Amino acid sequence: MLSEAELKHLRRCVELATEALDSGDEPFGSVLVGADGTVLAEDHNRVASGDRTRHPEFELARWSAAHLTPEERAAATVYTSGEHCPMCAAAHGWVGLGRIVYVASSEQLSAWLGELGVPAAPVRPLPIQDVAPGVLVEGPVPELTDEVRALHRRFHHAGGQAPLAATSRSSSSQSSASRAGSYDAGEDRTGRPRSR
Ligand SMILES: [Zn+2]
Repeated sequence: MLSEAELKHLRRCVELATEALDSGDEPFGSVLVGADGTVLAEDHNRVASGDRTRHPEFELARWSAAHLTPEERAAATVYTSGEHCPMCAAAHGWVGLGRIVYVASSEQLSAWLGELGVPAAPVRPLPIQDVAPGVLVEGPVPELTDEVRALHRRFHHAGGQAPLAATSRSSSSQSSASRAGSYDAGEDRTGRPRSR
């Protein structure tokens, strides 16, 4: 059971994910919190520009390497709207950050995106502990998963990814290319690996 203070950090992650969505990016947000509960840094997805490695968890790992001692990093917690992808889990592990608390798991996200007809991501969604086995991980957090799911639905409906049922075979070449799993940046302007 998470404390009210921890839920507050997760709500901030959902808020950041909403900000990302409102600015045309994929809805992911993360907050780095020090051992004393102080918010040290926060970020949301910034992949819409074309650099698909701009995940908030990766940015927070790099920020922590530049600004925190190894002891501070180990005692810090990363709260995040969606479980780290393998890239971010590796960065988290390499810089020696502490605990992770996520709202939605990669498994949940993959299932939701599958239902929306979104093609598989180019990076396999692995559980964090398959990548960084020493990290203490908590999640999913049922209190907030519906909100996160709604953000992803909004993103994929607004972003030109029509649900399969509504996409006719003879519709634009863009939608048939999307269904075939194209990851060309021009097709998928938001770019980010879509399941983690
Ligand atoms: Zn990531």
